Amino acid sequence: MKVHILASGSAGNATCIEMGGSRFLLDAGISARRLKQGLSEVGVVPESIDGIFITHEHIDHIKGLATFTKKYRTPVFARRDTFLAMGCRMDIPQECIRVLPERMVWQDIEVSSFSTLHDAADPVGYTFAYGGEKLGLATDLGFVTERVKEELTGSDVLIFEANHDLDMLKSGPYPPMLKRRIMSSRGHLANDAAAWALAQILGEKQATVFLAHLSQENNEPRRAWDTVAAILDSQGLRHGREVDLRLTMPAETVSIERETEAEQSLFG
Ligand SMILES: [Zn+2]
Ligand SMILES: [Zn+2]
Repeated sequence: MKVHILASGSAGNATCIEMGGSRFLLDAGISARRLKQGLSEVGVVPESIDGIFITHEHIDHIKGLATFTKKYRTPVFARRDTFLAMGCRMDIPQECIRVLPERMVWQDIEVSSFSTLHDAADPVGYTFAYGGEKLGLATDLGFVTERVKEELTGSDVLIFEANHDLDMLKSGPYPPMLKRRIMSSRGHLANDAAAWALAQILGEKQATVFLAHLSQENNEPRRAWDTVAAILDSQGLRHGREVDLRLTMPAETVSIERETEAEQSLFG
């Protein structure tokens, strides 16, 4: 599988995955122009995207959705209440709308969506599994439920929120009400909370973990990475051994390519 995180953070989120001959976008929270540009930089033509999977209706996850689907007529998968809560719903071509089930199979790829705790209509995280490899994505998490941990267990590549440093948020410039919202169980995940959840999710096989949705005001990439790495290390999950810990960027693509077991046996 190939994973390209085109943008990550409160200013916009979009990831392209290529798996088993299919290509998907997970969220479309940057402009359609930036989506097209980001895709072309990784050699993906927008017309070849088979579907767009939406986590929730906040603007940093759907900003380019209507323009992109109007142009390319890409099917959009989201929960019913998520569609209903989208400001741009009327601008998405009717024939593109697909109500997202909990489990679906697309060309042998098993897609699973599961509820997350966040202040949106019906937010979800995702896993995509094919040929013995699994990708998990969960951002915008106020609190990590047991169900979320179970669903993400066994992921080879994990895109997981590390939104803020608690001290930076507390002493930062945000108004008290916004601080309370971010810290609540329906807000966003702090670096250390992300690490403790990851310590439970990660297991035997080595996983690549992308720390995602970093706040540009209340976090620093280095601090997020160090905090998570230190806690994982204390739990016997060492960077470079049991876990390959990476950062994402607000406006720069980060990619990873992994051969599936099926591909390995085909070429090996
Ligand atoms: Zn959100
Ligand atoms: Zn968000």
